[in-house]
Amino acid sequence: MKFSFIFKLVAASAALAAALSFAACSRLGGSSGGIYKDTRVIMGTYITITAAGKGLTEEQATRAINAGFAEVTRVDELMSTYKPQSQLSEVNREAGIKPVKVDPEVIEDTEQALATARATGGAFDPTIGPLVSAWKIGGKDARIPTQAEIDKARALVDYRQVVVDRANGTVFLKKKGMSLDLGGVAKGYASDRAVEAMKKAGVKGGIVACAGDIRAFGTRPDGSPWGVGIQHPRDKDAVIARVELRDAAISTSGDYERYFIKDGVRYHHILDPRTGYPARGLMSLTVIAKQSWKADSMTKMFVMGPEKAKAFAAAHPEVEVLMVDSQGKIFGTGRFAKGLPKAIPLEK
Ligand code: AMP
Ligand code: MG
Repeated sequence: MKFSFIFKLVAASAALAAALSFAACSRLGGSSGGIYKDTRVIMGTYITITAAGKGLTEEQATRAINAGFAEVTRVDELMSTYKPQSQLSEVNREAGIKPVKVDPEVIEDTEQALATARATGGAFDPTIGPLVSAWKIGGKDARIPTQAEIDKARALVDYRQVVVDRANGTVFLKKKGMSLDLGGVAKGYASDRAVEAMKKAGVKGGIVACAGDIRAFGTRPDGSPWGVGIQHPRDKDAVIARVELRDAAISTSGDYERYFIKDGVRYHHILDPRTGYPARGLMSLTVIAKQSWKADSMTKMFVMGPEKAKAFAAAHPEVEVLMVDSQGKIFGTGRFAKGLPKAIPLEK
């Protein structure tokens, strides 16, 4: 296997990203043809879009890459909970009051989120908003909430209280104080949308990487598949597995992306809707699926803990899963079932 062009599934620090200045579309291709890529900071993270094809000109590539970024920006404007003017923020302000008219993309991504919520029995729950606000993990004010705060927030997390009305184009949260947070699916959805936009712009192959949510289409100009490396959860410079992707998506969620440590305990951003605390038992979980929204949302089977997640993954062959538990032990399905070590070293 050749992996001369590897994306690592990493969560980027927004601060670091902001500190870098990015060159415009850069050419990477050799004699085999053109590969062009560009990185920007959107959705508080690095987004890298690559376009490839034999004979692809810089102008064509730039047009397609720009179309991809425009889609990512549009998804962010519609669905960011950090932007008070976003449609999702309005849905949240009107919780318990009235349905809010939204764009078809908001309906679509909310329905995707609800589909994964049902499939995972609520391990993935897009109404996690009140718990995300209570913990503020990843922000300057991150802290351990009181048990009363956790209980109050937890009572507002229930994906069955979301009403999507396709005919009228509205989303309604039944209880006051509820809030939708699509942070666990929107980067995947944005990758899907960006890929569609690039295909429309005439590009035959490429990769859209919204931090840890990556979708590939077509091949590299020489016909070889795209390669993606999966990051070691405790060593950002090491890769624990490499995969080839053709028209597929891969996502990783981990306890090492956004977290703080207090009294030796790691508090990270993947929250268990049942307990209200960061999920325990795993360090990282990777999913390969046809579409990026699915890969992204399904990584939250992380919340089930190792044993239940193993059983769930085994029962869902439509996704391929790789998980690393808190001891560094590896478990995989699909292409991850074979050829990997039983555990990864945790000490350097
Ligand atoms: P990711 O970046 O894909 O690892 O997703 C992490 C984000 O998903 C968090 O920052 C929250 O916004 C959201 N999230 C956390 N826990 C859950 C959960 N159990 N279900 C759905 N979304 C979640
Ligand atoms: Mg993700």
